[in-house]
Amino acid sequence: MIKHNKKYIIFILLAIAATSNIYSQDQEYPKSFTLESSNKNPNIILMIGDGMGLSQISAGMYSNKNSTALEDMQYIGLSKTHSYNQLVTDSAASGTAMACGEKTYNGVVGIDPKNKQLESILEYCNSKNFSTALIATSSIVHATPASFYANVNSRRQYEDIALQLRYNSVDYFIGGGRKHFNRRSDKRNLIEEMEEEGYDIVNNLDNYNKSSSQKLGFFTYADEPPPINSGRKPGLKALVESTLDKLKDDKKPFFLMVEGSQIDWGGHANELAYVISEFKDFNNAISSALKFAKNDGNTLIVVTADHETGGLALKKGNLKKSTVIGDFTTIGHSGSMVPVFSFGPNAELFSGIYENTAIFSKLKTTVN
Ligand code: MG
Ligand code: ZN
Repeated sequence: MIKHNKKYIIFILLAIAATSNIYSQDQEYPKSFTLESSNKNPNIILMIGDGMGLSQISAGMYSNKNSTALEDMQYIGLSKTHSYNQLVTDSAASGTAMACGEKTYNGVVGIDPKNKQLESILEYCNSKNFSTALIATSSIVHATPASFYANVNSRRQYEDIALQLRYNSVDYFIGGGRKHFNRRSDKRNLIEEMEEEGYDIVNNLDNYNKSSSQKLGFFTYADEPPPINSGRKPGLKALVESTLDKLKDDKKPFFLMVEGSQIDWGGHANELAYVISEFKDFNNAISSALKFAKNDGNTLIVVTADHETGGLALKKGNLKKSTVIGDFTTIGHSGSMVPVFSFGPNAELFSGIYENTAIFSKLKTTVN
């Protein structure tokens, strides 16, 4: 009888709950409940090696004592990189595909072929109360990072892209391209404007580390940063570690995009040493992200590329000396599929062969 009564009471309570709006979607939950439920969302770290095909990875690995951080990733897939109407994509169309889930024309950022402005995974995560961050070794207004916050018909509209970053809600960003913010043809100083609205904008890693602002930008260079072999500082690893520290302190789930931008530029220059040094810089950052994810236990890492650059083939090399010799077949991009490596909760979603737009949809399914 006692058991029966308990069941009866639970049934009544459930009936009340179902008919009242205690559990309805519109109801504001007590704060503790929101925190608890949103914490189930895994953090997302999306790392894009621009122009990083299998040959670039192999060259970097063999010249790094036959080792790469990617060997610790759990699942591997392949992504088809073609754009809306071209077999060989550019970084704007492929950035848009991964960031926003739609194929578009080469050169277009965050807008689909029917001229519709797209919401990026970063913006979607932001709407779900994630902290958000972008780090690039190019300028922050370059096509790949821009795909996560901007909607422009041409990737070369750098000043428009800067303006859209100024009005976006990215919490932390690091990249070059300061001049597009404070030396503009419209004479506006977006850095001052952002600071007036609570952003802390800094010019070195020390000040980036020290700042406790919840809105923080770090311009590494006025223009495009130089190659790592020509003295670009700081390395990507330090930028990622510092940003992960901040994101961890926010005590919310986060979305972080990290781009190794210049692997692509080494490919365009047909300089294997440039490709390899930029891969190593990116590889070091992957190590740091993996270390964080292994510690944290609730962080999904996806490492991929937007396309291959240079049509690189490795011809020979010396295993003992960690040297590689290769040939490029183009100064542009190639149409090969690119690998996708994943680690952490939901990592299994990224095995198989799929369009690059699926990276967006797969990431989106991991967000509640
Ligand atoms: Mg790029
Ligand atoms: Zn390129």
